[in-house]
Amino acid sequence: LSRIQTDVLVIGAGPAGCLAAAFLKKRGFDVTVVEKQKFPRFVIGESLLPRVMGHLEDAGLLEAIKDMGFQEKRGALFIHGNEVCEFDFSEKFSEGWDWTWQVKRADFDKALADDIFRKGVNLLFETTVTQIEFSGTDSITTIVSNDGTTSEVSAKFIVDASGYGRVIPRMFDLEQASSLSPKQTVFSHLKDEKRTDDSRIIALIIKENTWAWIIPFSDGTTSLGIVSDAEYFNSFSEAPLSQFREIIESNDFLKARFGEADLVFEPKKLGGYAVSCKKLYGEGVVLVGNATEFLDPIFSSGVTFAVESGHLAGDLVADFLEGKKVDWEEDYSVYMRKGIEVFKTYVEAWYSGDLQHIFFAPKPDLGIKRQICSVLAGYVWDTENPFVRRPEKSLKALSSFLEIRNKSVK
Ligand code: FAD
Repeated sequence: LSRIQTDVLVIGAGPAGCLAAAFLKKRGFDVTVVEKQKFPRFVIGESLLPRVMGHLEDAGLLEAIKDMGFQEKRGALFIHGNEVCEFDFSEKFSEGWDWTWQVKRADFDKALADDIFRKGVNLLFETTVTQIEFSGTDSITTIVSNDGTTSEVSAKFIVDASGYGRVIPRMFDLEQASSLSPKQTVFSHLKDEKRTDDSRIIALIIKENTWAWIIPFSDGTTSLGIVSDAEYFNSFSEAPLSQFREIIESNDFLKARFGEADLVFEPKKLGGYAVSCKKLYGEGVVLVGNATEFLDPIFSSGVTFAVESGHLAGDLVADFLEGKKVDWEEDYSVYMRKGIEVFKTYVEAWYSGDLQHIFFAPKPDLGIKRQICSVLAGYVWDTENPFVRRPEKSLKALSSFLEIRNKSVK
C-alpha cells in the first residue's frame, strides 16, 4: 500500500474543509484534503450570510470568489400574502460585512477548492475515506480512489469536513438525532424571467409550517425550494416533478412568478437533513461544518457555520501542532455551540410562529430590528447584541409585548 505522510488530513472539500485547509496551509502545515466526488458537484445551500465574507477574506480566498461574478445579496424579504418584512443587512447592529453572495454551490465550492490547490494544499478528488485507526492523536486513514486503488494517509491530526457523509460521527458512534421537528424539501432551479429584485433572498410563507426559498442567481436562473412536513407534501402527487409543479400552482405568488418558468433540472427531494452529534472533537480529530450539526434552511446558516468552524478549527489545530495548549471543549465546542443555539432558537421561533408575529408587526422598533437583522446576517457571536446574548428570552418578551400591544389597539 502506498502511504501519504501529511500533517493534517481534511476529509471533504466543501466550504468547511477548504477553510480549515486554507488556514492550516497559511500557518505552514502540510495539508491533504480527500474528497469523495469530482468537482464541480451539486450541493444545496446557495444563499450565504455576510458573516461568511470576513472568513473568506482572512483565509485569502475572497479574491478568487470575487472573480466568479456571483449575484450580490444585500438582505432578505419575508413575504406573507400582502405583508412584506424587509431586512437590509446595511442596517444591522453588529460590525462587519453587510453584503454577501447567492451562489450555485457547484461553482462556489469548485472555486474554493481550486484556490486552496493553488495555495499548495494536496487535494485528492474521487477518493473516499473508508477507515481510520487512531493511535493517540496520530492516525492512519484508509482511502480508496474511484479507480479502485487503496492507499493510506498517515496524519498528526484529522479535520472531518465530510458534511452529510458524517465520516467520524458514523465511525465512532457520535451521531445524535436533532431535537428539531423533521422537515422535507422539494427544490429545483428555474429560468426566472419575472424577477424584480435579485439582491434579496425571499422566504415566502405559504401556510403554517410551510415556506419557500427564492434565491436568484446572476445568470437569470433562480433556486426555488419548498419546505414543510410530510403531511403537506403527501397532499400532492408523489413524483418530484408533478409535486413541484402542483405546489407552484397552489400558491398565487409562486404561480405568478414561476407558473410558466422552465426548470433547469428535475426537482430533487430531501428529508431528515437536521442532524446533530454528541461531540465536536476527539483525540486527534475535530469536526467542522455539516459533519457536526445542521438545523434548517430557513436562515441560510449552514455555510456560515461551515466557514466559522473551518476557520476556528484550522487555527486551533495549528496551535496544537505548534505545541500550544488547546482547550477543545472551551475554545471550540462551547464557542460553536453558542452560535448554533442562537440560530436554533430562531428556527424554533420561526416554526412556532413567534418570529413571524415579530416580523410582520406594524410599526417595528428600529433598534430591535437592527439587532435581529444582525442575527440574520450571521453575527450570532456578538454578545453585545441582546438578541444574541439571550435569544429565547428576548424573542419571547418581544412577541408577548407585541401581542399585548395588538390587543390594546383592537
Ligand atoms: P459539504 O458542502 O456537504 O461538503 C462535504 C464534502 O465531503 C462533500 O463534497 C462530500 O463529497 C465529501 N465527503 C463525504 N463523505 C466523504 C468521505 N467518506 N470521504 C471523502 N469525502 C467525503 N446553507 C446555507 O448557508 N445557505 C442556504 O441557503 C442553505 N440552504 C439549505 C437548504 C437545504 C434543504 C439543506 C438541507 C441545507 C441547506 N444549507 C444551506 C446547508 C448547506 O447545505 C450546508 O450547511 C453546507 O453545504 C455545509 O458545508 P460543509 O463543507 O460542511 O459540507
